Amino acid sequence: TSERVAFIGLGNMGGPMAVNLQKAGYAVSAFDLSADALAKVREQGVTAATSASAAIEGAQIVISMLPASRHVEALYLGEGGLMGSLPAGTLVIDCSTIAPASAQKVAAAAKARGVAMIDAPVSGGVAGAAAGTLTFIVGGDGAALERARPLLQAMGKNIFHMGEAGAGQVAKLCNNMALGVIMAVTGEAIALGVAHGLDPKALSQMMAVSTSRSWATEVCNPWPGVLENAPSSRGYAGGFGNDLMLKDLGLAVEAAMGIGATIPLGEMARNLYAMNKQAGRGALDFSSVVKLVAADGPK
Ligand code: NAD
Repeated sequence: TSERVAFIGLGNMGGPMAVNLQKAGYAVSAFDLSADALAKVREQGVTAATSASAAIEGAQIVISMLPASRHVEALYLGEGGLMGSLPAGTLVIDCSTIAPASAQKVAAAAKARGVAMIDAPVSGGVAGAAAGTLTFIVGGDGAALERARPLLQAMGKNIFHMGEAGAGQVAKLCNNMALGVIMAVTGEAIALGVAHGLDPKALSQMMAVSTSRSWATEVCNPWPGVLENAPSSRGYAGGFGNDLMLKDLGLAVEAAMGIGATIPLGEMARNLYAMNKQAGRGALDFSSVVKLVAADGPK
């Protein structure tokens, strides 16, 4: 392909995603505020640009993978933001997990400029980003998604079109809110069993084929030693950070308040991950939330 792609935000997720695009034959010009992040992708053949504005020169497609709403709004709408210089006809794909209202704001500015845009937050974690097996959860115009599809397929496996601008973000928040609640209650259930003398592995194996089965019992079990490859079995390192889950639950609460929806469990879960952060575990995998309820802490 001769299409040129600008990729902004090369962190845990964006770095491997940009490399997968380059491997698929796209000419990728990338930028990150972190020199280390930029150097990592340069080693793998991606062109390093000196600024976001430099990265988009000659690009038909712009992809961003930034931490939160404020970073995305600053990139596109801030002083000297990209929306002031992108040529009409450019396609913008924002893969960050941000507020639906924020995604809609950027999409409206894009539309006014004749730029196509989709919100395409992802699920699948750092391992999925590296393996190119991410799930893309898309909001926006169908024609824009069709144009983006080959690029998304170079970085992922499943693509879901949820509706208009912002709908991808809403769906992503629904998924992560349910995940946050399920992880916390799974930890609570295993802690209760262990306090009664049950073996956590035997309990988890039973649950994993019974009615409480979930990603938390089968893939990312919060109890150390139950699953060898889960973050819990390596001191809760790596995985999906407590602080990112806390951010996503905050976005879910905001989205609920905006329309007067009630999310009692989601709000409680937000508090649990906030308490887990206060206990000093903000940078650990979110499954470390189990430590709030395990009497002496899981070994
Ligand atoms: P990260 O913090 O590792 O990476 C973000 C990168 O953006 C950093 O390298 C930072 O330097 C860069 N950045 C910030 N502002 C910038 C700017 N103005 N210009 C250029 N670069 C800038 O975060 P991550 O884990 O890669 O996550 C990115 C997004 O994906 C978040 O919204 C997160 O919620 C979401 N997400 C993460 C995971 C995961 O498992 N880590 C899974 C699914 C979704």
